[in-house]
Amino acid sequence: MADRKTLKIGLIGTGFMGQAHALGYATAEKVFDMPYGLSLHRVADVTEEAAARAAHRYGFAGWTTDWRDLLADPEIDVIDITAPNALHKEMALAAIAAGKHVYCEKPLAPLSADAREMAQAAKAASVVTQVGFNYLCNPMMTLAKQMIEAGELGEIRSYRGIHAEDYMTDASAPHSFRTDPVGGGVLADLGSHALATAEYLLGPITGVMGDCVTAINSRPRRDGSPAPVEIDDVSRAFLRFDNGASGSIEANWIATGRKMQHDFEVHGSKGALIFSQERFNELHFYSTEEAPGRRGFRKIEAGPEHDPYGMFCVAPGHQLGFNDLKAIEIAGYVGAIGGQHPEPFGFDAGTRIQMLVETILASSAAAAWKTI
Ligand code: NAD
Repeated sequence: MADRKTLKIGLIGTGFMGQAHALGYATAEKVFDMPYGLSLHRVADVTEEAAARAAHRYGFAGWTTDWRDLLADPEIDVIDITAPNALHKEMALAAIAAGKHVYCEKPLAPLSADAREMAQAAKAASVVTQVGFNYLCNPMMTLAKQMIEAGELGEIRSYRGIHAEDYMTDASAPHSFRTDPVGGGVLADLGSHALATAEYLLGPITGVMGDCVTAINSRPRRDGSPAPVEIDDVSRAFLRFDNGASGSIEANWIATGRKMQHDFEVHGSKGALIFSQERFNELHFYSTEEAPGRRGFRKIEAGPEHDPYGMFCVAPGHQLGFNDLKAIEIAGYVGAIGGQHPEPFGFDAGTRIQMLVETILASSAAAAWKTI
């Protein structure tokens, strides 16, 4: 691979996701055979302390406190946006205008019109895009999709999905980009993941009936003053799928005690699947083809048969971790940049999720079903 080109990365944001992406690049480089090498070139954050610390810790060659410096840097091939939601559009459009490939965290943009503008700009500039829907990169999620598509569950009739955590349970959890009307709400934040999983497994959603609720009406700003909150803390939606199945999703960030309940159940005429992200190296399968009296959910443990688990570990049951999903996402994205396959989850796909989010919010406001 001596003549393999190296993609130089410019990362914006060094918080929770900035770290996950930085570690993901390092792992992807070591684990996967990719068409490009990866180089952590420069990182941007708002303070010198954060940017310099991240550069040192993750091995970026340089850092800046102005993300626009990354766009002006001709050596950078990929701009990676892990900044708050409301900044995604401005940063992505500027990166696209500078001819960079763009990897952006979810939700792509708070408004679907903005997301669409970003997707159209990327297409016009022929740059390759990726949105951070890492839960879809889990080999057990791929297995679930394969089993559904192979007919192992028979005719798919019903679906239940949920993404629940508890980091906003405390009413004194500070007002942030997540509770800002221009950037937030639980449906955009966590519901986007639940919707992406629902469509990944069952195909297109064609109708929604939402119920989106603000449970905590005020949260303290950093200076302690109260900020009124109008965005949703708990959102649910009934769903109709194009394949005839009905279903539901819940997005909840005040689910006391829940840390990462990205779960689903799929019920078919011949079988069912249960999955929980809190035990994401397992998939539970029930088959009506077992003899009566012997039926029950059977645990399938992740192993090397479940691609690309084997790239990380030769032994079954030893388990992947959250940051490994980012490495898998990055490997898929780099393959798309190298022309090996279409974008796994590009800006068009991210726009669709945002459109679903918006339609559920509109359905809740109107107390009426909406067609997609
Ligand atoms: P965070 O608050 O931990 O990190 C955000 C970072 O962006 C901070 O370092 C902040 O200083 C930096 N930042 C803010 N303004 C900036 C600017 N103008 N220039 C440069 N840096 C700036 O937040 P987070 O939890 O990492 O969330 C970031 C994004 O990732 C959000 O869009 C969120 O929805 C998404 N996210 C995705 C997942 C996932 O599983 N895919 C999980 C969590 C968050």
